[in-house]
Amino acid sequence: MVLLDGKTTSAAIKQQIAKQVEELVANGEKRPHLVAILVGDNGASKTYVAAKEKACGEVGFNSTVLRLPEETTEAELLKEVDRLNHDDDVDGFIVQLPLPKHINEQRIIEAVDPSKDVDGFHPVNVGKLSLGLPTFVSATPFGIMELLKAYNIDTKGKHCVVLGRSNIVGRPMANLLSQKGNPGDCTVTICHSRTQDIASYTRSADIIVAALGVPEFLKGDMVKDGAVIVDVGITRVPDETRPKGYRIVGDVAFDEVAPKASYITPVPGGVGPMTIVSLMKNTLQAAQWRKQAE
Ligand code: NAP
Repeated sequence: MVLLDGKTTSAAIKQQIAKQVEELVANGEKRPHLVAILVGDNGASKTYVAAKEKACGEVGFNSTVLRLPEETTEAELLKEVDRLNHDDDVDGFIVQLPLPKHINEQRIIEAVDPSKDVDGFHPVNVGKLSLGLPTFVSATPFGIMELLKAYNIDTKGKHCVVLGRSNIVGRPMANLLSQKGNPGDCTVTICHSRTQDIASYTRSADIIVAALGVPEFLKGDMVKDGAVIVDVGITRVPDETRPKGYRIVGDVAFDEVAPKASYITPVPGGVGPMTIVSLMKNTLQAAQWRKQAE
């Protein structure tokens, strides 16, 4: 069994990005600038935004975090999005999800200028992805593709089961793995909460991407020998023995599944760091495309 080490892989990609940024700056161009909007006080969201801000520093981007109170109205947030759409100094921005209940997330996603939508959530970018056109790919599936590539995992003709059909992970993941190319060329099955007998699908899978948000859902007896296992799940499970009072648990019962797997991602240290570095890649790409469009 080989661990798919997202920490080491993402560190190498960050170094490449940092090098490209220094080349831009040496050529008299500005540093790419990523803005994150954080609305409210969600603990996990604050952690993710802090990690994104740290990564920006590591690759040499300028970064700004706009912290807005929980009571921010949808109209106020739309105004902020519009301001960033028109701010020439900003190459890309993200609105950290989830948003407070009184704000319509889809309306916010659709208000972001697709050319600055480095999360790849805007319908224009989702449409381009499904057509295989160059675009911003949602950071988690993008990071998983990079991880498969880094470990030279042959995906051609393989049966891949994606557990979860969310717009930000499951669906784009299934799309990318079924596209032509390597990684890609998979035969993909998507499972969700209405799927009957999920184990009957996972047992025949060569590759499983688990993105449910259900701690340790995928058990050892649901996996065939030699499968490649990618665990996207991040759930905070209360744990009094930990300083923070919780621990992070993935969607895969690691101790049972790892001995059967050929490759497996750890949680943490697998998909998480790859997601963040992919956001950095998208931001660099945004800056390059903006420059080309000038
Ligand atoms: P989501 O929007 O809640 O979607 C979860 C999907 O799983 C849905 O399609 C749901 O089915 C399905 N599902 C839930 N419980 C199920 C069950 N018991 N059996 C079968 N299907 C079930 O979640 P998400 O945004 O895709 O995120 C999934 C997990 O990945 C979460 O733990 C999240 O924190 C984590 N995540 C991690 C990263 C990272 O960087 N590592 C990034 C993004 C997300 P229905 O559609 O039928 O409801």
